Amino acid sequence: MSRKPIIAGNWKMNLTLKEAVTFVEEVKDKIPAKAKVDTVIGSPALFLASLVNARKGSELELSAQNAYWEDTGAFTGENSPEAIADLGVEYIIIGHSERRDYFHETDEEINRKAKAILANGLTPIICCGESLEIFEAGKTAEWVERQITAALKDVTAEQVGNLVIAYEPIWAIGTGKSATAEIADNTCKVIRTTIEKLYGKDVAEKIRIQYGGSVKPENIVEYMDKENVDGALVGGASLKAASFLALLDFVK
Ligand code: PGA
Repeated sequence: MSRKPIIAGNWKMNLTLKEAVTFVEEVKDKIPAKAKVDTVIGSPALFLASLVNARKGSELELSAQNAYWEDTGAFTGENSPEAIADLGVEYIIIGHSERRDYFHETDEEINRKAKAILANGLTPIICCGESLEIFEAGKTAEWVERQITAALKDVTAEQVGNLVIAYEPIWAIGTGKSATAEIADNTCKVIRTTIEKLYGKDVAEKIRIQYGGSVKPENIVEYMDKENVDGALVGGASLKAASFLALLDFVK
């Protein structure tokens, strides 16, 4: 089964509103057709309302980088998944290793977020990935299997088939030291097998799994050529319009 590729930029805490809008205006008419690839920008939540406007008339999709699991309430400083959905945004990235490490997010919280995002009709991009220590100890497979199983607790097969998982080895994020395409493919396969064990073969064949960690225009094709890699989640190389567009050159 051939899955449609999904390339997502993750801007993290970068750019100003003006820079973000200029970026979207520059790329929005140059991205390949949505029939061939899903193209997504993961922006700080602060800019999303303006970017929904800026991308009008194009097939560029938008993602938040986090959300809370309640839709309303006394949660100072948090962003509601319901309010994000109401903006017209399509995706929310959750469980990024920076959120797990710096903001102490747990597997249980990521699971609550996944369910709240799905309940609001958005697609979660659920990140997983191991530290260098775990990688060197040869324990990557059991680590990501545990992360994914926990993130998907009580999520239905129908919902899982449509969501996106991003495999991002922590040692490859922002380091310039990308995982080889073989490593990326092997771990994405472990994730697919985990999905198969939990939800069956059809769901496992349908779900899209991205690789992330120092992906750039120069190496993206190596990953996209691999059977189990359906896309990329890209940080640094997604910050400039020209570089972001170059990531999409592999789409013919
Ligand atoms: P990077 O970040 O491409 O800068 O390594 C990837 C990510 O953290 O999503």
